[in-house]
Amino acid sequence: MKELIYLDNAATTRTAPEAVEAMLPYFTESYGNPSSIYSAGESAREAVSSARELIASTLGAKSNEIYFTGGGSEADNWALIATAEAYACKGKHIITSAIEHHAVLHTCQYLEKKGYEVTYIGVDENGIIKLEELEKAIRPDTILISVMFANNEIGTIQPIREIGALAKAHGVLFHTDAVQAYAHMPIRVDEMNISMLSASGHKFNGPKGIGFLYIRTGIRIRSFIHGGQQERGRRAGTENVTGIVGMARAAQLAFDRLEERERKEKELRDYLIRRISEEVPYCRLNGDREKRLSNNVNFSFRFIEGESLLIMLDMKGICASSGSACTSGSLDPSHVLLAIGLPHEIAHGSLRLTVSEENTLEEMEKTAESVKEIVEKLRSMSPLYEDFVREQGRGI
Ligand SMILES: *Cc1c(COP(=O)(O)O)cnc(C)c1O
Repeated sequence: MKELIYLDNAATTRTAPEAVEAMLPYFTESYGNPSSIYSAGESAREAVSSARELIASTLGAKSNEIYFTGGGSEADNWALIATAEAYACKGKHIITSAIEHHAVLHTCQYLEKKGYEVTYIGVDENGIIKLEELEKAIRPDTILISVMFANNEIGTIQPIREIGALAKAHGVLFHTDAVQAYAHMPIRVDEMNISMLSASGHKFNGPKGIGFLYIRTGIRIRSFIHGGQQERGRRAGTENVTGIVGMARAAQLAFDRLEERERKEKELRDYLIRRISEEVPYCRLNGDREKRLSNNVNFSFRFIEGESLLIMLDMKGICASSGSACTSGSLDPSHVLLAIGLPHEIAHGSLRLTVSEENTLEEMEKTAESVKEIVEKLRSMSPLYEDFVREQGRGI
């Protein structure tokens, strides 16, 4: 069988074997309900409690500020909708960026239908949010700023500390979707003035369907899932004990070797960026070269259809993406690539490769070779490219 080269770690990651191992006893011996009084529920309760402490410590937060959710999308929905409801008496204006994940963007659109007003701040050509535009957008009735920590498509890391400072100076709450950043880089909620933060287990080698929302003490946010008294009355439903335990173990593994992993990923990332930029003509690296996730590579190739590129890479056993997983399958070009100013036809020809430290340099070599070969092949079948080359030849 052909070896798979997995380069779609922004879509999801492999669950760490240590995380799986940590989860197993909570399916078998310790399957009790954490809310039960008897001792069979106690070990589950203790496991949830130490997972909460561990995750809180990775952010410099208190354990009663961590609320487990069914993933990143739920955390984003909760942060936005519940804040909008709780602070409607102060105002109904929300600020976000044009390059957010759909879990935030579509929630904002939902709130607009409910009578809220949302300002979408633009980004520069590298995908960094325009801070002056953000500050100018703040009004007396602004209740929330929601800007992602790092972008899932082009990997740009936003000036979170500066946004936090602005939000604090204006007395506005600040939520950040840190799904791509958490457990990939250091985050301190106090120093960065973050009021709420979303994260998701499966983006850092934990299981799928589990995440958390950090909610700073004192924020009047309501329950999103109504029912029992779990999560201190703010998120009903029997705790996903196995998921929580697996996610916490994955976080622990990640934070134990944050720098080492970052260094390894950057080496693989930079190799790919260098080879593709040097060897494939008419390509463009999307996203900031420096303020960039250590695992993210995103290129646009002129005269190429991203979907065809993905299919041909798949035939070589390479898993990649063109935009976010949720948009593949639709014909609209990525809203992120349009926001950085790419014309439709160039945005369509984009490729995202997101590495993990488990990848090897040999895999990067094979990937660079494959991208080069496939782009050449696809272009050789493109009449547009033929015309373009002919005109270049005539010096036009
Ligand atoms: C994956 C992702 C989400 C959604 O998280 P799920 O756990 O899959 O619901 C939200 N925001 C960003 C930036 C993501 O990359």
